[in-house]
Amino acid sequence: MEFSSKLLERAVNEMSQLPGIGKRTALRLVLHMLKQPKDQTLGLANALQNMRNDVKFCTSCHNISDVALCEICSNPNRLTDVICVVEDIRDVMAIENTSSFKGLYHVLGGKISPMDGVGPHDLNIESLVTKVAKGQVKELIFALSSTMEGDTTNFYIYKQIQQFNITTSTIARGISVGDELEYADEITLGRSIVNRIPFESSLKH
Ligand SMILES: [Zn+2]
Repeated sequence: MEFSSKLLERAVNEMSQLPGIGKRTALRLVLHMLKQPKDQTLGLANALQNMRNDVKFCTSCHNISDVALCEICSNPNRLTDVICVVEDIRDVMAIENTSSFKGLYHVLGGKISPMDGVGPHDLNIESLVTKVAKGQVKELIFALSSTMEGDTTNFYIYKQIQQFNITTSTIARGISVGDELEYADEITLGRSIVNRIPFESSLKH
């Protein structure tokens, strides 16, 4: 692609770094931004810059937050000894939308995936094991997607915390096996988290 402007070229190159955005789409978006009111484009740039500079990860559950301890962790009405283990913030949002869960979360930040070079130490697993070891947890609910990576991650964590004699459960997602949590419909997900099953019984296949 030949550009008549270095400024334009740079913007297109940056935009095309985004997943699913090729050079052509990037050019279309950038040209759109040149056409729209300047305030709108600058508003977007500003929002991105502020988000990147100021966003925090909750010191307890690792969820994305504007403050050190997220709203869920600092809510006195939540059950602090029931922890739902999820992959990322999208899962937290999906489960929160069901209004069926009153405990806390632990956001791993991904799943163990040797193929993608993601090992247990790249995820927030250690801090979870520490919470359990300190006796702060009565029940852990595994809510990762039912993929091979999700199962591997669940099992890895289970092995780490097995010695502490706490209840482990998993959300029963028999209806939509393989679906990512973010796509599960809210009623099904809500019912699953209420009618969760012991983790051990999910292993016997
Ligand atoms: Zn939190």
